[in-house]
Amino acid sequence: MTVDLMVGRENVNDVPTHWRSELLDVASYARISEDVRQRDGHGVRHQLRINERTAHEHGCRVVAAYVDNGRSASKEGMARPGFDRLLEDLVRGRTAEGQEVHGVVCVADDRLYRRPEDLARFFAALTSRPGRVYLDPSGFRDPYTHEGLLQAVRSLEAAVTETRLRSDRVLNWHWARAIEGVPHSGPRPFGWREDRTTRHPQEAALVEQAIDERVAGKAVRAIAREWFDLGVTGTRGGRPNGQTVTQVITAPRVCGYRSSRGRLLLVPETGEPVTGSWEPIVAPDRWQAVCATFSPGSLYLHRGSGTPRRTDERRPAPRHLATGFLRCGAQRTDGTLCHGPLSAQKGRSRRSLYVYSCRSCQRCSISGPLADEALERLLLSGSPAGPRLTEDTRGRWKSGELAERRQIAGSVLVHCAVQPGVKGKQEWDFSRLAPVWR
Ligand SMILES: [Zn+2]
Repeated sequence: MTVDLMVGRENVNDVPTHWRSELLDVASYARISEDVRQRDGHGVRHQLRINERTAHEHGCRVVAAYVDNGRSASKEGMARPGFDRLLEDLVRGRTAEGQEVHGVVCVADDRLYRRPEDLARFFAALTSRPGRVYLDPSGFRDPYTHEGLLQAVRSLEAAVTETRLRSDRVLNWHWARAIEGVPHSGPRPFGWREDRTTRHPQEAALVEQAIDERVAGKAVRAIAREWFDLGVTGTRGGRPNGQTVTQVITAPRVCGYRSSRGRLLLVPETGEPVTGSWEPIVAPDRWQAVCATFSPGSLYLHRGSGTPRRTDERRPAPRHLATGFLRCGAQRTDGTLCHGPLSAQKGRSRRSLYVYSCRSCQRCSISGPLADEALERLLLSGSPAGPRLTEDTRGRWKSGELAERRQIAGSVLVHCAVQPGVKGKQEWDFSRLAPVWR
């Protein structure tokens, strides 16, 4: 949604005519990115007010305002009608209403550009006529000088770095510091007391037990039924079900990790998770292990207060044999195994049209056709360590559909650990799969 606002008109008309010529007419630009919480326009109105004040303090007056509300400046291909109109007007030298424009006022460079292309377009438009200024709360900048351009490039570099950090799923470090260790607001999480810091004795014990049982292979619905029989309710009085139990036991907070909007907060310098100040219920490896028992759709990475709650546990049927059976065999920095689930993704080579890879540590992936073939060999090899499939089962396998094969695999296989591949090694290495049979 884009709002075009004409602001400051009344004030401008109050200024005596002979003063007006001394004021520099500038265009005000405001933008907030796609944060749904800010889409009410508060963010841009606030910026426009600051622009008005900045202009006033520097002998300028705002004659037109350009707004992009809910528009990212870092995404390629994201249209910003306000920005585009500003550039058009700068090139033309006046607004659609015929008002001359001698500069641009903004709260910070990164409102205008977060990508080099946009910086280039903005500077070309701004300097397309002589005598223009760029103004922000720190003062004027001369866009025609080397120094003026350098300052803009430095701002761009900062913005690009920040964008890259964000897209690496690492949030702004200053913000992360500010919230480090502070428990979430909102309803009390199941497992902790009202202070959101101290373990709730009964609930924490239930969570710990549920994690152990789930890792040992118990169905979440069975756990939910037991909780229900014990009279357990959610912290808002809800009846436990498979979905809520899943949410409780896979939440990063159970091991002290801090997440935000469904993403684990990481310390940018180290890549280590940010830990909270509350008492953890289990150690991180237990949490990893319990997460690994779910397919990717149920993982914390896909949930959080900013994402819609999953109301339907039905997911599209897996399209590949090994989906859900593979676990990451990569070593984490502390020497323990990652054990994250590998999920199927589109591959880049013709030989591997799909690959299974670990979304937890991103250190392990294996060619999809290789893993499926290796799994089939393991199941059908008849080796003493492997499963004893009856002739009937083998017959079903050979004639079976994918769903049937997956059902057979699930009846004999707990999971299959996958060793990370060796870089540059081209041949298919079937020994990378280490099955755990039932
Ligand atoms: Zn992993």
